[in-house]
Amino acid sequence: MSIDAIEKARKLIQKSQKISAFTGAGISVDSGIPDFRSEGGLWERYDPYEYATYDGFLSDPSKFWTMGQELAEVILKADPNPAHDALATLEKSGKIVGIITQNIDNLHQRAGNSHVIELHGNYLKAYCMKCKKEYVGETIHRRVANGDIPPYCDECDGVLKSEAILFGEPLPENAMANAIEVCKKSDLMLVIGTSLQVYPAAYLPQLAKNNGAKVILVNLEGTNRDGVADILLRGRAAKILPEIIPKE
Ligand code: NAD
Repeated sequence: MSIDAIEKARKLIQKSQKISAFTGAGISVDSGIPDFRSEGGLWERYDPYEYATYDGFLSDPSKFWTMGQELAEVILKADPNPAHDALATLEKSGKIVGIITQNIDNLHQRAGNSHVIELHGNYLKAYCMKCKKEYVGETIHRRVANGDIPPYCDECDGVLKSEAILFGEPLPENAMANAIEVCKKSDLMLVIGTSLQVYPAAYLPQLAKNNGAKVILVNLEGTNRDGVADILLRGRAAKILPEIIPKE
């Protein structure tokens, strides 16, 4: 990656006024949360396409919660990294129109971003599938760690489900509509740490572009949708983001 590309990205960010970010698992890898492709991680032991499907959860919630216990341990000990912090800096400058994330780890909010659209929900919240009572995820994860698998509602005995969306489950109400609105408002979209393979989310950068936004794509590896980028920055988000978004 050339210094020239970093410099171009920095200038584009400086002159843009309505910036959005679209983030995926890659932005949280340097916080210690593996993406689906990292070696030696959680997903080598638990194939997400087997352990995290909605149909699978409905027929046997124990399977999900067994994997979920390990995922909770990883997420609960993670902290925001310099890439999350850089996006929070951008919000302080008043230029952020929204962060659209596929992540379920709450790290954007913890870094200080307030307008976060979680397309795939949040792993630190749970609810009863029967009476809809809401639970703090951390409390449930503690119960699960103590062998309460699957966890049941203390009011009605319904099964508890994490608010994170499983494969085959509809997206949270309004999430996509809100994300589309953010795309249309943007004059620049930063696409960070996503393989752009999961739909319909993967279409969002193109939508922003069709509505006149420039796109900066930051990712460790190539994606099938690199063509959407005006500036392509290959590398780790935690290194690149602080370079293109200087602290004020
Ligand atoms: P993905 O695993 O499909 O792709 C991640 C991408 O990030 C890859 O292309 C990889 O090259 C890149 N990457 C890895 N490390 C990076 C780094 N340090 N800096 C920059 N890029 C890096 O993830 P996805 O596109 O988000 O989609 C898969 C699904 O996984 C999503 O639905 C998401 O909900 C879920 N997921 C979320 C988390 C989380 O909340 N942190 C973790 C794992 C998976």
